[in-house]
Amino acid sequence: MSWFGRWRRARILERHAIPFWDFDAALARLPILQRLDASERARLHEAASLFLHDKTFSAAGGAEVDSATPLAIALQACLLTLNLGEASYRGWSEIILYPDEFLRPREEMDEAGVVHHSRDILAGESWLGGPLVLSLADVEASGQADGFNVVLHEFAHKLDMLNGDANGFPPLHRGMDAAAWAQDFSTAYEDLCRRVDTGEDTAIDPYATADPAEFFAVLTEVFFETPHLLDAEYPAVYRQLQQFFRQHPLAAMPSGQRLESHEHD
Ligand SMILES: [Zn+2]
Repeated sequence: MSWFGRWRRARILERHAIPFWDFDAALARLPILQRLDASERARLHEAASLFLHDKTFSAAGGAEVDSATPLAIALQACLLTLNLGEASYRGWSEIILYPDEFLRPREEMDEAGVVHHSRDILAGESWLGGPLVLSLADVEASGQADGFNVVLHEFAHKLDMLNGDANGFPPLHRGMDAAAWAQDFSTAYEDLCRRVDTGEDTAIDPYATADPAEFFAVLTEVFFETPHLLDAEYPAVYRQLQQFFRQHPLAAMPSGQRLESHEHD
């Protein structure tokens, strides 16, 4: 970081750091953050303070946004990038909040060249180089260690888009093996698609089978929310995400939760 960058960062933290009382209260409401040790919490506090200073939050559709919501979003967004560096969310600034799931018009051309108009019901959305959109109801349900997390999902798309359109292939770190990533993800993707197609009630959200970008985003949710489940279902993908995020949530779980991984079928 340049001299100016360091100066600016220090100045923001001096003037706009999240009050520790608010930070601790927000942590207490987010079970997925309980595993972080003191030094990780201190780094999360800094990263989230900078995030809140750099991003703008706007309400749409009559959403009423209290101060706890941007903080909860910042903490979970910065959990993903805790060991990835502060430039991970560069190039865009706006987070738009709807009260609940929202409708988005969609246009699709079929093989005969006919354009079909439909509407998707969305809990969240990420635009390449543009805003990130979230439903407040889904934000409130995120971070409870139950496997679903719209915040982690949409920010995972943002990381995926650091090298272009979301396709399940974010920029990997030096030393990671791109061929192994592709192999491990596509094997797991094909397996989950097959299980969903045969009508199995999968523990992993079947929405993951929509395409490889959704698979990456949904499995990122599972990695941080219910890591024992991902390790039991697709251990090779767990290891890839462990290398990518440079975190090992399973190792930091209380032993009781680790045992659960052998109970589900
Ligand atoms: Zn998605």
